[in-house]
Amino acid sequence: MGYITGKSSSKLAKVKVNLPLLLAASVLPDVDLLMRFLMHRGPTHSLITITVLMIPFFVVYRKQAIPYYAALLSHIFIGDFFTGGIQLFWPLSQGWFGALNIDVNGLTNVIVELVLFFLTLPIMYKLGDLQSLLKPHNKNWALIIPLGAVLGPLLAVGRGQEYALPTLLVVPSLFFIGLFAYSMFVELRAEHNQDADKLQPSNTS
Ligand SMILES: [Zn+2]
Repeated sequence: MGYITGKSSSKLAKVKVNLPLLLAASVLPDVDLLMRFLMHRGPTHSLITITVLMIPFFVVYRKQAIPYYAALLSHIFIGDFFTGGIQLFWPLSQGWFGALNIDVNGLTNVIVELVLFFLTLPIMYKLGDLQSLLKPHNKNWALIIPLGAVLGPLLAVGRGQEYALPTLLVVPSLFFIGLFAYSMFVELRAEHNQDADKLQPSNTS
């Protein structure tokens, strides 16, 4: 969802978007799973927190920040809003907001996620985004965040509703783990080769 919303908003705003950073933004609110002092889907899922934290980025990067804001909003409004709700207006309100209350590990959610996965892949391929992730780029390191987000449920790390991964979602998870890990590996290899070139005395002179 982060990819779809981020990519469409970048087209609408006519700005370029960096894919690893976009994917990182789309899962960033779930950083609360790693912080025992924060309630999951609480402060980091608040429209107010996200908007306030995005202000400096809008000041510096102007409309280039739009796709990342859209990806963050897709996480809270499309992802979590319908699967149990969030503290949408924290700190103004401690109330939980949501609709439909779809079980995040239930069949409905699993089917929606599978459909989105098989729908998004050809789009990513057609737009050349899948291919771009297979090439070295220093921003590929940002994929460590979405990698953690797919690894967590697979290894049953963390807590809350996302504790266990439904079996049907193992395949998409493994695909993304492979993709993100490979993307960072090609960048690591490129950096290593660059360093090796610098150390080698030039034999052309
Ligand atoms: Zn979340």
